[in-house]
Amino acid sequence: MFDFHNHFTDKSAILCPADLLPKYYTEQRWEELKRLMPKHLGEAGLDKRFFNTVSLEEQKRRLTEILVFAKENSLCVTLHCVQCTSHMLEVLSSVKPRFGTVIWHGFTGSAETAAILYKMGVIISVGPRLSPDKIKEVLSANSLFVVETDYEGSSEIEHKQRLEDVYNKVAAALGKSVSEIEEMCFETAAAFTT
Ligand SMILES: [Zn+2]
Repeated sequence: MFDFHNHFTDKSAILCPADLLPKYYTEQRWEELKRLMPKHLGEAGLDKRFFNTVSLEEQKRRLTEILVFAKENSLCVTLHCVQCTSHMLEVLSSVKPRFGTVIWHGFTGSAETAAILYKMGVIISVGPRLSPDKIKEVLSANSLFVVETDYEGSSEIEHKQRLEDVYNKVAAALGKSVSEIEEMCFETAAAFTT
């Protein structure tokens, strides 16, 4: 099983460094990443909890720059969004990322937002926090999805368990098998894994 967002392992998973988040971002690190050009950037995004130290305008400016850079260089981006949905949609609609190259991780938004993201070709990532009903609702509005744990711990067993739980939950919610779900995720996020 593949974990599309976590902070624990890059084995069968996309390991996401947090150094482009509003909390940790530095110009120096960003310049360095532009030189290194990793295939995958982020997580990066908007976070209301840090407006007092990094203004919304500055967070949007940084994120726009990251998304434009990714678009121009065919890189992938994982998005982080805390209480900034409308601002995030605004940034995405101005940049217009390439289809299937952006994952909105830990998606907990509405079906309406999911439908807007579908039109933009933005993938939503389902984590442990979504209930089966909510999974059904958002994935019927946006069939571009992947599965994640966002695991930050240090136990391989615990990580594996969490990943299995989310896959099982999504499979049950959609009335499909886990291997069908895996296949769908790989197809959707091919740009991230190949
Ligand atoms: Zn994370």
